[in-house]
Amino acid sequence: MKEESGNIGKSLEAAALIKVVKRQLEDVMDPELPFLSVSDMGILRDVIFENGHTICIITPTYSGCPATDVITKEVLAAARVMDPKSEVRIAMSPAWTTDWISDKAREKMTKNGIAPPEGLSHDRAFLTGDDRIIPCPICKSRDTNLVSPFGSTACKASFSCNKCLEPFEHFKCI
Ligand SMILES: [Zn+2]
Repeated sequence: MKEESGNIGKSLEAAALIKVVKRQLEDVMDPELPFLSVSDMGILRDVIFENGHTICIITPTYSGCPATDVITKEVLAAARVMDPKSEVRIAMSPAWTTDWISDKAREKMTKNGIAPPEGLSHDRAFLTGDDRIIPCPICKSRDTNLVSPFGSTACKASFSCNKCLEPFEHFKCI
């Protein structure tokens, strides 16, 4: 791409514009998990082209998540670098689920000391209070305790490991 950013919207075909906007959005991180992009998290659902501009479709992790406003602003700012007329559309249905978190993102969570969501969203045993074993992301021990159902954010729970004695967070399955 050699075009100047001011002319890029006019000179590129819609498909090419979608592509560059998507690439730009790969650098927008989830404010609650700054090592993961909104794309890794499955929050960025798609980029489409309508009425001469791109539309970035995002689904918040859960309604009322305080990070949603920040994500919306950052997605819009990043998209407008490539397409000054880009808009954000929030899609609430289907609701976001941890099933949309990519495998690469789950690996990054583990490396950052957060136990990724276990199983699929239809398995709600954890949310309904049944005991579930969440392996320690540090030493992999399955001998762990739930300390609090809410960690640093509402979507995470606090655990401690009985083997390595380290506290860790678990991203709950929703
Ligand atoms: Zn451990």
